[in-house]
Amino acid sequence: MKSIKIGGNMYRVYMTKDENLGDAAADCDNQKHIIRIGRGAKPEAVRHFLLHEILHALNWEWEEKEIEMLAVMIEQVLVDNPHVTQLFLKNEDK
Ligand SMILES: [Zn+2]
Repeated sequence: MKSIKIGGNMYRVYMTKDENLGDAAADCDNQKHIIRIGRGAKPEAVRHFLLHEILHALNWEWEEKEIEMLAVMIEQVLVDNPHVTQLFLKNEDK
């Protein structure tokens, strides 16, 4: 996966063996700017885990419960409203 820019920092994102993550399905290293996601995750889960870890990267002090709630809610709005999601994409035809 490509690197992603979060809060001005470039994070490397990659899939790793599930056993490397211990009990977690994904993790975020805010010092090294690395997000890892377990290889066993299905595509919809990868999307969710990525959003979850992006939120951790944005603010490491947010509680786990808040992060997960936000990830679920933001994902739902984006999935339910592709026309809104589209607003965030570059449109070369304009
Ligand atoms: Zn988390």
